[in-house]
Amino acid sequence: MARDAAQARDIAVRIAKEEGIALAVKSKSMASEEISFNDALQGEGVEVVESDLGEYIIQLAGEPPSHIIAPAVHKTRGDISRLFERKLGEPPTDSIPQLVATARKHLRAKFLSAGMGVSGANFLVADTGSIVLVTNEGNGRMGAVLPRVHLAVAGIEKVIPRMADLPAFLRLLPRSASGQTISSYVSILTGTKRGGDPEGPERLHILLLDCGRSAIIEGKYREVLKCIRCGACLNACPVYTSVGGHAYGWVYSGPIGAVLTPLLIGLPEAVPLPGASTLCGACAEVCPVKIPLPDFLLELRADARDQGLKTAGEIAGMKGYAAIMKRAGLLEALERFVGVLSQFFSKGNPISGLPYPFAGWTERRDFPAAAKQPFRKLWKIRRGVRE
Ligand code: SF4
Repeated sequence: MARDAAQARDIAVRIAKEEGIALAVKSKSMASEEISFNDALQGEGVEVVESDLGEYIIQLAGEPPSHIIAPAVHKTRGDISRLFERKLGEPPTDSIPQLVATARKHLRAKFLSAGMGVSGANFLVADTGSIVLVTNEGNGRMGAVLPRVHLAVAGIEKVIPRMADLPAFLRLLPRSASGQTISSYVSILTGTKRGGDPEGPERLHILLLDCGRSAIIEGKYREVLKCIRCGACLNACPVYTSVGGHAYGWVYSGPIGAVLTPLLIGLPEAVPLPGASTLCGACAEVCPVKIPLPDFLLELRADARDQGLKTAGEIAGMKGYAAIMKRAGLLEALERFVGVLSQFFSKGNPISGLPYPFAGWTERRDFPAAAKQPFRKLWKIRRGVRE
């Protein structure tokens, strides 16, 4: 087991060297992203090829994943065609089956010559020592059984006690991840190739990552380790769907990233993330394991304040906001003032190019103009309430 990312990289490199590996094929694993697995092995001269289609695309593009289960969701078929043209010398196409066939053609040769297959683990079953992979592409299974060596990289929270517990998780994961009752491939891998087995690895290594998880278990955020990485909270989040995964700056994005990242890399390194939420609660509603994500986001904001990580401007802004929200008359007057001001400048159109200190709001997209009449005024008119 690796205490931290540096130790995990050292262990992975040592295994690759001891096994004499020159080429590894890897299936999608967020845990391996956490420890910068590819950089570590490639730094020691081991070629690592991503075999999940989305991961293969972003590896060619030199980008990190932008979604837990759909790493290249931010790319169009045109982007991918141009990428394959540039990196693989393939002719342009707008046919998705053609693009998939191209990736398969290039990956097949890698599968057949790789010395090591690297996978994550959706679950690790303690009473049988099994690795469970839940995929839709079959690359995870092929990478785990074709090469001579199999290395699985997973966080310690992926361990479940008994095989009898697995069906409950297998019901939850595909339904929340991709809306399927069961994914195309569910592989339960136990040990190495035995006598009479037609295929399977001769050697198996399981690299367990602590990397901050033991500290989380002991604290008030322990429930976050129930996450099964289904990605449902990302899909439901209005912030994630507007800004995309890369805006979160590290491996995990969306609501789970806004909670998990500060806990794994430290709140000072990720202090804006818990603030990047409207607290609408959609994430908690869809989460199959009922992690109280909005409560944790609020708790992390309080931690940031207690640790002195909030700027003077943020504290003053929040105090001003609280003062206004406590006075209904003042709020209403302000709403009318903003409505008139906004209409005056924008003439009813979305606002672009705001000056400093608001410039960041309109740097990449327009800001909607405030309504002529505030909502509460419209509500009163509609209900026939006289002021
Ligand atoms: S927090 Fe819940 S919804 Fe989000 S990825 Fe984890 S299990 Fe899925």
